[in-house]
Amino acid sequence: MRKRPLGQNFLVDSEIAHNIITLANIQPEDHVVEIGPGKGVLTQRLLPIARSLTAIELDPKLCRELESRFPDSPSFKIVEKDAAKFDYASLEPGFKVVSNLPYYAATHIMKKLIHFGSRIQSMTLMMQKEVVDRLTAEPCNKEYSSLSVYVQYHCKVERLLEIPNTAFSPRPKIDSSLFSLKPLPQPSVQVEDPQLFFKIVNAAFLHKRKMLKNNLKPWEDKFEQAQLAGIDLSRRGETLSMSDFANMANYLHSQNE
Ligand code: SAM
Repeated sequence: MRKRPLGQNFLVDSEIAHNIITLANIQPEDHVVEIGPGKGVLTQRLLPIARSLTAIELDPKLCRELESRFPDSPSFKIVEKDAAKFDYASLEPGFKVVSNLPYYAATHIMKKLIHFGSRIQSMTLMMQKEVVDRLTAEPCNKEYSSLSVYVQYHCKVERLLEIPNTAFSPRPKIDSSLFSLKPLPQPSVQVEDPQLFFKIVNAAFLHKRKMLKNNLKPWEDKFEQAQLAGIDLSRRGETLSMSDFANMANYLHSQNE
């Protein structure tokens, strides 16, 4: 027996299932990857409209159920694998992802997909509302975090639909939100050293209530009159825009050259 539950809250509201498929904007030429098809509430709606569908499901029992319900065909494949470990480069590029993600691994799987972003046309994903609040947050909003910066650096993020917990069985404690991620051809800001950029972003948000001068101590020797790249270090990380972070990272990069 598995030690850990698999985030199996199945969508039972057919109107919401219909709305998700409409918002995913699947066209007849599209190859779709569905993560965690479960009992097939989205699968059954995707199959008639997509050119082809690859469904990645970790639970072997659900895989067998799906196989008997939707027989294997050249245009439909069930892959019994962990979506967080799947090699998305093995698929023909240009696919669209649709998923009601399992809560316990949602952020992890989303980051994995972003890693393969250049091969993905769009992702229509459902996650915990509180996480989607962070993904869509702008500077000075209390939900703005290093995750907001990470996702908005790589993708255009759009919130699509709010889904109450009553739409699922078993019913989870919290509500969900549907959102879309469109991987950007170029990151949203120009950064010389992305590793350094994310190091600074993570440090700036490490202690949210602290001022930048305390969170950015590793770069203290580059501070000039309580500023770094013209940014006042008595500010908090949560007030900085993506461009502010890029300016700091590019300034520090130039100092190290
Ligand atoms: N799509 C279905 C629906 O909307 O009713 C099921 C969604 S349910 C929230 C999440 C699904 O993901 C479950 O079927 C679960 O077994 C599957 N799952 C959990 N962890 C997974 C993983 N690491 N990789 C692939 N599928 C996973």
